Amino acid sequence: MKKIIHDLSLQQLEDLFVQELHEKKYRALQLYQGLMLGKSIQEISTLPKSLKDRLLTLFEDETIVILREFTAKDGTKKFLFQLADGNCIEGVFMQYKHGNTQCVSTQVGCRMGCVFCASTKGGLIRNLTSGEILAQVLVVNARMGGNSKQRAITNIVLMGSGEPLDNYHNTVNFLKNVSAPEGICISTRNISLSTCGLVPEMRKLANEGLSINLTVSLHNGEDRQRQNIMPIAKVYSIQEILDACNYYFEQTGRRYIFEYSLIAGENASKKDADKLIALLKGKPCHVNCIRLNAIENGKLIGTTEKEAYQFVAMLEKGGLSATLRRKMGDDIAGACGQLRANYLNL
Ligand code: SAH
Repeated sequence: MKKIIHDLSLQQLEDLFVQELHEKKYRALQLYQGLMLGKSIQEISTLPKSLKDRLLTLFEDETIVILREFTAKDGTKKFLFQLADGNCIEGVFMQYKHGNTQCVSTQVGCRMGCVFCASTKGGLIRNLTSGEILAQVLVVNARMGGNSKQRAITNIVLMGSGEPLDNYHNTVNFLKNVSAPEGICISTRNISLSTCGLVPEMRKLANEGLSINLTVSLHNGEDRQRQNIMPIAKVYSIQEILDACNYYFEQTGRRYIFEYSLIAGENASKKDADKLIALLKGKPCHVNCIRLNAIENGKLIGTTEKEAYQFVAMLEKGGLSATLRRKMGDDIAGACGQLRANYLNL
């Protein structure tokens, strides 16, 4: 595979052009601006053909292409992307009153093994480069009619397939590049990173000076039970996660969020709510509940809507800030990894 052009920042492109390709610096800016508009190298009309031909000996022309596009009844769009090496990943575009959110993937597959998650079927294939993560945002922004000034995407969540903190270096590089003022410039305050709880990397992230929102997939307030559905819980305890969240809050001043997918007979009883309340009361956090999206051949199913509302009401009564997230794009396999899993027949 050739190199991925989106891995380079504007500064790095300029250095490459001036020092190695012996091209004018402004050509690097033209290239960069074209890339930010979601164009492939070939499509950038401001560059001379000879220069494009040289670039194409070094770089893949299309970092990512939209292979399939599905639109749900609620307007949510789901994209199946193809990478230059033929691997597939997916992404979701959700429209809200306050703006539009793009959900991006950070790995092809995942090795965390959470039993309810489709992304982990088939294991980890490979990490995405920072440019492959960025290109997901750029092509969807363009597809939805946006450019780098008038963005169609206002918010990003790193909640597609993969564990972002298991691909730490590339994820952090992506966060820097996607928020760069000269680029698509999406404010880090509008970006949320979700982790299954890789404690050392959570602490490292707190020191990066990026004010992104940290979200942790908790799904149970008790270690033993959490271990039944999330293998990573055998490595890091809930207490270690809470300590890392607290450190994140100290370093960034940002309140953290817990994801809690409601699973029938597993984590949605009064006892489960009480455990969470005891654990989280008084902490600068929010609990985001969602009914589990059952995956094919999986044993677990979501609670009813009524049970979900009751669970959230119990948390609120216990003094926690909690909401029930609408399930979006249900009819188009909206949950993590479902689309790719269906496509690949995993
Ligand atoms: N690896 C990261 C991010 C990807 S998953 C993490 O674990 O947080 C994004 C969120 O969707 C996580 O909270 C994950 O637990 C949840 N999730 C995965 N599969 C789901 C499903 N089938 N139904 C509901 N939520 C799911």
